[in-house]
Amino acid sequence: VVKELLENAIDAGATSIVVEVERGGQRLIRVSDDGEGIPAGEVALAFARHSTSKLRTVDDLNAITTLGFRGEALASIASVARLSISTATAGADHGSRLETGARGEPLITPAAHPRGTTVEVRDLFFNTPARRKFLRAERTEFGHCEEVVRRLALARFDAGFTLRHNHKPVFSLRACTGVAEREQRLATLCGAPFLESALAVEVEASGVMLRGWVAQPSFSRSQSDLQYFFVNGRIVRDRLVAHAIRQAYRDVLYHDRHPAYVLYLDIDPMLVDVNVHPTKIEVRFRDSREVHQAVRHAIENALAAPRAGAVLAALPATAAHAASATEISVNFEQNRPPALIPRAQAAMQFDAPLGHPVADLGALWGQPRPPEREGVSTSGTPEGAEPPTWQSPASGTPDSPQAWLLYPSPSPRDP
Ligand code: ADP
Ligand code: MG
Repeated sequence: VVKELLENAIDAGATSIVVEVERGGQRLIRVSDDGEGIPAGEVALAFARHSTSKLRTVDDLNAITTLGFRGEALASIASVARLSISTATAGADHGSRLETGARGEPLITPAAHPRGTTVEVRDLFFNTPARRKFLRAERTEFGHCEEVVRRLALARFDAGFTLRHNHKPVFSLRACTGVAEREQRLATLCGAPFLESALAVEVEASGVMLRGWVAQPSFSRSQSDLQYFFVNGRIVRDRLVAHAIRQAYRDVLYHDRHPAYVLYLDIDPMLVDVNVHPTKIEVRFRDSREVHQAVRHAIENALAAPRAGAVLAALPATAAHAASATEISVNFEQNRPPALIPRAQAAMQFDAPLGHPVADLGALWGQPRPPEREGVSTSGTPEGAEPPTWQSPASGTPDSPQAWLLYPSPSPRDP
């Protein structure tokens, strides 16, 4: 529920989102946003099953840029909880409030609300005791809620997120405008030790842009719990990608340790199919080999570069930091390793125009979204580019990348 409501807020262009949870979400989940709101005449429609405002033409299906598009979430939530929506669009005389009546019928009344939408979900599974029984302890359920907010907050540095549980603040993150704020958010969400050991990655190859942070092998985990990979702003757990990253760490991590990373892949939406898995956590790349290689090489390079300056570790911390930054940029100039850029320098590049085909690229990093979705299908493919083709997979052993090409995303893995 939290995920669906948050995604709707993001899709509405919200820049500030407040999530309030009570009793692990069972008593209350309330998500307020300052997005575009729902016009009074469409509020009832928003509840109807299979109704969405996010697909306008058939072509939109080939280049999905919103997080939702199935039109099922609100209808499903309304069937298992007490749901209400208050909403207003910019310039409207008044907002509207929608609740479900005793027999599940929608009741709409005028209501005061600033531009944006507040969705309230109370008494989850009140009418389905069998499902309520499967809710875990309050702390566990809240942990899931928090993880969902964390993922979205890592995906969208351009929006502010506030999370409260039982009226207590958990975190409050302002929309990020620069690298310091992004790093601050990273430290809040992933912990300061992760940030301290993080190497910035930024590489662009064959129309694929990969950036973000990977932890040095000295900061590894006993679980795969600090692994975030976003494709065009959408969190993904993809076997192909996981395999590529594991391969990159192969020589530097014990096999029972897990790397930590927060990575963002931006790719022409025409070259990736987000429609493979119902919860959209898996994707299928048109050219999986290319993506596998790009990811693996970028991380290998990031991990390899600082080892060249390992002697610097003996210096006092601040001196070592300054020196290693210089060292790395000298390396960067001389050897042009494609992936490793000192954090500060990477920051400047993140903010620079990238001339990249992906329309929504800037959005991740705190630049405003393009105003409208129109033109998505045309802005997707760079002019003169070949139409996307499915790579014919080469044969390979089960553990080779080629094997993953044959079966890019075989099964849902996320709980
Ligand atoms: P989907 O997101 O797949 O379209 P949902 O059931 O989640 O389906 O939402 C149905 C519709 O309700 C959306 O298409 C959108 O028009 C509207 N809606 C839902 N939440 C919001 C929100 N926070 N702000 C603006 N519109 C919203
Ligand atoms: Mg939705």
